[in-house]
Amino acid sequence: MAEIRIEGVSKVFGDTYAVRNANLTIHDQEFLVLLGPSGCGKTTLLRAVAGLGMADAGQVLIGGRDVTYLPPGERKISMVFQSYAIFPHMTVRDNIGFGLRMSKTSKTEIKRRVDEAAELLHIEDLLERRPADMSGGQRQRVAVARALAMQAEVLLMDEPLSNLDALLRLEMRAELKRLLREVKATTIYVTHDQIEALSMGDRIAVMRDGVIQQCDEPATVYSEPVNQFVGSFIGNPPMNFIDGVLRRVDTGLVAEVGDGFQIPATSEVPDELMPRVDAPIRLGIRAESMVTSAEPAEGAIEVVISVVEPLGAQNLLTIDLGDNRLKVSTHPSFDVRPGQTVWLQLPAEQIRWIDPADELVLGTGAR
Ligand code: ATP
Repeated sequence: MAEIRIEGVSKVFGDTYAVRNANLTIHDQEFLVLLGPSGCGKTTLLRAVAGLGMADAGQVLIGGRDVTYLPPGERKISMVFQSYAIFPHMTVRDNIGFGLRMSKTSKTEIKRRVDEAAELLHIEDLLERRPADMSGGQRQRVAVARALAMQAEVLLMDEPLSNLDALLRLEMRAELKRLLREVKATTIYVTHDQIEALSMGDRIAVMRDGVIQQCDEPATVYSEPVNQFVGSFIGNPPMNFIDGVLRRVDTGLVAEVGDGFQIPATSEVPDELMPRVDAPIRLGIRAESMVTSAEPAEGAIEVVISVVEPLGAQNLLTIDLGDNRLKVSTHPSFDVRPGQTVWLQLPAEQIRWIDPADELVLGTGAR
């Protein structure tokens, strides 16, 4: 069992909190992605788990053992860093086997594990070469192979695919996910690439300014963000946000947006909305959650398309609604042009209601 528990971990540099009161439990064999923009504290938190930077407060437990004050070598972990830290003068074989030699593993066992890791990473032909003569992507795969060869129960990875070209990265994403399932390690994986996070993680912990905002399964983080930051950081295009005023009309609650357009809530509006009538409200909705038609439709808003971006599998329309600029995804067969009038429906159950003051999601139209 190698559950990782991060309890109240903080790390301060000068007067900046790089990590503030982080609490996370990564289950045995789980693949947890730490996601967030540059400088949000992902690496600092990973280093605290690795034992490379002592936390200023809090505890780290691995497999129930308090490792907060243990050096990295005594934590039974294996690491891959963005800088991949492999030795240029050693052959790939010696690099992959380095940690095993340090831990006095037998020569036959080292050979077996190095061959196996090299095969998994498709670098078996490079084993006798030196990293100095290799590409960044190949070196990065050597670093991943070295970490896997250790067969540690805990694997910590900091942007391990950052130096691969786009195609190899796509391939390695799926490959690494499969590999990690096979090796059954508990993994923390740091990235700022939200696609990588969505596609690889069992769960994603989204960080901002040193604070974990939300930790949930990818589908939940995507469709039920806890705040506007998470909704805008995850997804391409980001979630749309529409500012309006909450009104009570004969048919129930509506958000009044743009030039008096009314967007209705479902009958099961979240309780948090009730006291907010006549106050500003912000709606969040995904590009693919809106329905566009060329003809007037029930409850649809009449809008004009300003830009059409054909992206192959979808067309992305830009539509101005009052002061709000929306991105709306449509099927490529929906043939429209800039300047054309269309009708836009915002299904109530797809709307996330946000408090514009603190940008927290109050509840969903479906609840
Ligand atoms: P990136 O994706 O760019 O690697 P990150 O999310 O991993 O970013 P960290 O490297 O953890 O972020 O940095 C978090 C904050 O702490 C940043 O403001 C950074 O400038 C600061 N920081 C990190 N390491 C140090 C250090 N050794 N000394 C001073 N400040 C630091």
